[in-house]
Amino acid sequence: MVSPGELRLIDTLLEDGAFEPDISDDGSVSYSAVAELLDEIDDDPAAVLERFAARGVLADEFVSKVYVCPECATEGLQYTTVCPACGDPRAIETTVLEHVCGYTGPESEFESETGYRCPECEQDLESVDIEKRLQYSCQECPESFDVPDDRLRCRECSSMFPPLEAIERVLYRYTLTAGGEEWLARQQAARQTAAEVLEERRFETEIDTTVDDETSRQVHVLAEDRLMGDRRIVSIHETPATETIDEFCAFAESIDAHPVVVTTSGTVEADVARRAENSELTVLTFDESGEGTLEPEYETTESVGAHRPGLFERLTAALEVTGRNGRQ
Ligand SMILES: [Zn+2]
Ligand SMILES: [Zn+2]
Ligand SMILES: [Zn+2]
Repeated sequence: MVSPGELRLIDTLLEDGAFEPDISDDGSVSYSAVAELLDEIDDDPAAVLERFAARGVLADEFVSKVYVCPECATEGLQYTTVCPACGDPRAIETTVLEHVCGYTGPESEFESETGYRCPECEQDLESVDIEKRLQYSCQECPESFDVPDDRLRCRECSSMFPPLEAIERVLYRYTLTAGGEEWLARQQAARQTAAEVLEERRFETEIDTTVDDETSRQVHVLAEDRLMGDRRIVSIHETPATETIDEFCAFAESIDAHPVVVTTSGTVEADVARRAENSELTVLTFDESGEGTLEPEYETTESVGAHRPGLFERLTAALEVTGRNGRQ
């Protein structure tokens, strides 16, 4: 399906050329230009862009990668080292001395009034007798070690995990493909045709507009005949899916409008066809050939044969469906 916001987004690409990810100082990523174009009912910008890329409408070009907390999905993780024994980050690199007797300890333990003295064998030491090196010592447990473990720490939920457990998110720059341009033109032509057909039937129409009632929602076309108190809303889809259409029909009912669904592929899911057969919904196919027309015939994804409307359906199909106020 394509929501009004998504269509707006793809249309903007014709002018703008590309959507780039914005990476902020704290490492979080957003597609802010995209977020502004989408509506509340739409998915998150990255998910919308990915979906259009998977469909070939958009091309994605690698920009960089960010890592996300596996617990809370926050971006912008911090690197830290931890004690390999207890996992505590309070493992600090310090200078340690090693005496030939075998004792190793922090420099402070060896310091005496006159110089260095081994706390184990109590021998006074010349500086040549001792070996200084850097070692990690844990302040939480007695462990000392040369190589600490690597962890990433989430700024948001404070969880720590090995770097490989972080979720890798690839950032892309998105552009419109040639196929995407055609796709866009087809959706827009379907929308325009729906608006024109309704205007011919004395409806006042608005394209990509918000219907404000108890609930507000963006629709592809809103058509109103105030005189007759008749209202239609139009949704454009490639292949209308049951879930989306159920939602669309529920919204139409809530604002006392008749729902019209235009399929640009000529196909709908079987449950959508069932709704249309019960006249709860009008389903039309956008036929691109010639000027572009809307036809009251469509196929269902579950059956191979075309749906053949009966005589009654033919008469009431398309936008001539009997409205709530008995309009023909
Ligand atoms: Zn987290
Ligand atoms: Zn010693
Ligand atoms: Zn420790």
